[in-house]
Amino acid sequence: MKTKYIVVTGGVLSGIGKGVATASIGNLLCKNYKIVTVKCDGYLNIDPGTMNPIEHGEVFVLDDGAEVDMDFGHYERFIGVNCKNEWNLTSGKIFSEVFEKERRGDYLGRTVQVIPHITEHIKSKIKGIAEKEKAEVMLIEIGGTVGDIESSWFVEAVRQMKYEKGMEMINVHLTFIPYLHTVEEQKTKPAQNDIALLREKGINPDIVIGRCEQELTEKSKNKLAVMSNLDIRQIIGGRDVASVYEVPLIFEGEGILEILHEKLFSEENKEEFMKKAKNHFEKWQALVKNILQPKRKVKIAICGKYTGLKDSYASVIEALRHAGANLDAGIEIKWIETTEIEEGRISIEEALNEVKGVIVPGGFGSRGVEGKIEVIKYARENDIPYLGLCYGMQLAVVEFARNVCEFDDANSTEIDEMTKFPVVFLMPSQRDIIKKGATMRLGGKDVLIKNGTYAENIFKTNGIRRRFRHRYEINPEYIKEIEHKGMIFSGMAKNEEIMQIIELPNHRFFMASQFHPELTSRLDKPDEMFYNFIKESLY
Ligand code: GLN
Repeated sequence: MKTKYIVVTGGVLSGIGKGVATASIGNLLCKNYKIVTVKCDGYLNIDPGTMNPIEHGEVFVLDDGAEVDMDFGHYERFIGVNCKNEWNLTSGKIFSEVFEKERRGDYLGRTVQVIPHITEHIKSKIKGIAEKEKAEVMLIEIGGTVGDIESSWFVEAVRQMKYEKGMEMINVHLTFIPYLHTVEEQKTKPAQNDIALLREKGINPDIVIGRCEQELTEKSKNKLAVMSNLDIRQIIGGRDVASVYEVPLIFEGEGILEILHEKLFSEENKEEFMKKAKNHFEKWQALVKNILQPKRKVKIAICGKYTGLKDSYASVIEALRHAGANLDAGIEIKWIETTEIEEGRISIEEALNEVKGVIVPGGFGSRGVEGKIEVIKYARENDIPYLGLCYGMQLAVVEFARNVCEFDDANSTEIDEMTKFPVVFLMPSQRDIIKKGATMRLGGKDVLIKNGTYAENIFKTNGIRRRFRHRYEINPEYIKEIEHKGMIFSGMAKNEEIMQIIELPNHRFFMASQFHPELTSRLDKPDEMFYNFIKESLY
């Protein structure tokens, strides 16, 4: 099948959910077409890996080890694809490659310009990815708003592509319709101006999605239709929802599949197309219903230091929702700032009041660490389900070493370089690397699961693949003694002596991993560790 392109642009405001809208369109098509998602970001960083998570939310790690922004998390969770580093085009990446070509003399001394050189480079990258991946549908999200100078070359590149002969490309434009409570009216003027701006750039949209607090009125839709030379059916209402997973259902309800068929898939029998597109729908719908109206609720504590910034744990929250939806349980998250425990401002009992399960997620540095260790000790001793993610596994080993193995003041060398018992230490492969942030052990790796363990029981296999982002590991020197005291190392790296999973057999649920299981959890395929953690927390 020749690649069909769906370009998603946005206007009026950033942050109105372009990533989720793109992912939702992909969701509706994903069971029947091979989908590839490209994200174009205007900024000049080559990639987002070194950007501060406080500024940009969570760093999402792809299987190939790329550190990308959270939108890729939405793509993967909604569409079930495994995205690649190459699919993230930043202005920085595009310009640096053009500069390199210029230095190499590829342009034969001609004047190098944004048009045509930058735009040609963008187009060839996009087409190159489509061809290499044999994409049936390529979704291209252009970051920012159409008026932004820094994404103007991406907008221009897709404009040129859209009008190429034989090209099958449509533009979906996401705009914003504020609701003025004082006059009880939806105001379409900003959206009208925004669509006019898009047309000024030479692009007439094929579908306009109007994000609004409420359902879009007929009147609003009409105004947007006139402004964008479209039929009213091509205006899709995108009302606010309680859960992002509802968005594909809303779009479908507004008739987006009809328009997609008309514009891009008209060679396919419509009935067949609609039937195929809806075949995963019922399951998705049922899971969304469980998120919105769960039969029961369970309170889970997440202990960390960025707790003020929930975006840094976006994937952990999503993975909890996935597990909850599949167990018909609503997840109530209690954020625990562990420095408060350390400083005695709150007792553990108070902090964990009504909490049925405890998570210590990934993290770096020493702030709040002693508090986390205290919480882990409490969960271990009181049979409270515990799930440790990366740092949460390293600290669980530190806690066990101190309090069960009686290695006084055992620690990770990340926190105390001089500790007498360095049970967690810098991986040998990381020792020569001085430049922080530049490298870590990153991306998808195979994990071998030991026979007869709880891990084998829940994964139902001896080999899984999960994603990593760390610099420290369990010190192999101490493994024998720790195991002797009852902790089991049930997951191992394939060709290295790196411990990947720990578990305590005499505990209701005490499990932690060096990898980040949250990154590969999906609503329709929850991660096994999260699933069983919630299952055990429900009792
Ligand atoms: N700070 C730890 C390390 O570098 C854990 C990292 C993490 O939790 N992602 O190994």
